[in-house]
Amino acid sequence: MKLLACAAALLFATSAAVAASGVERLYILDCGINQGKDQSRWSPGVNEGKPIEFSDNCYLIKHAKGLLLWDTGIPDAVAALPDGVSAANGSIVLRRTKTLAAQLTEIGVKPDDIRYVAISHTHGDHVGNVGLFPWATILIQAAEYDWAMAQPSKPAFAATQKFDKLTGDRDVFGDGSVTILSTPGHTPGHQSLLVHLPKTGAIVLSGDAVHFRDNWDNRRVPSMNTDRDQTLASMQRIATVLTEQKAQLWINHDKAQSSQLRYAPAHYE
Ligand SMILES: [Zn+2]
Repeated sequence: MKLLACAAALLFATSAAVAASGVERLYILDCGINQGKDQSRWSPGVNEGKPIEFSDNCYLIKHAKGLLLWDTGIPDAVAALPDGVSAANGSIVLRRTKTLAAQLTEIGVKPDDIRYVAISHTHGDHVGNVGLFPWATILIQAAEYDWAMAQPSKPAFAATQKFDKLTGDRDVFGDGSVTILSTPGHTPGHQSLLVHLPKTGAIVLSGDAVHFRDNWDNRRVPSMNTDRDQTLASMQRIATVLTEQKAQLWINHDKAQSSQLRYAPAHYE
């Protein structure tokens, strides 16, 4: 009898911990492919002239208080172009096989259902579909917004979108389950996302704080980054978070890692 009561108490404690997390699911969405002509653009002095292919993911987080989309990928219109589009003065070709809109439909989500669109940064392969969510609140660092809006080609935000301009970290739902981490350096207001999933555990979605595993292991800074010292400090910050939270690092553009993960309609809990 005593043992049974003990087991029941344990079960209750476990389900309470799960409920407290608030996050119910995380979907990985295929948001395109980036083909780089020369890897050394991202790893100065290493693998010069060698092509590299990147995955480009978006992530949808279902929380009890609403849906949050992390990054919006390459524009859906690119899916209709068999040769993709050329970017960064011809050094990268961007392609898509499936649209973000079609993948959301497949999992029963309408763009207007999404409460928050949080963007790691404003490069075109991350904000390509930001205008698809006219009623969402955009979570962006104020430094990133100011920088992006001063560029010749600005992100295609929708006129009706509300902006929550951050100046550092943000506990999005107030329960510690989804936290935006300020990780500048790749761009002036780059940010990453720490997610606590009830079964999978903690994950850091690193945006472009790092582009692939070898650069992470060797702390390499791509030539296009706006601030080298900030980039290195942000990588160190992420490493500390990984240790403290016993978290996995999911590197958006790391094709080898992405190929091991489950894409929508599958999901993580
Ligand atoms: Zn970028």
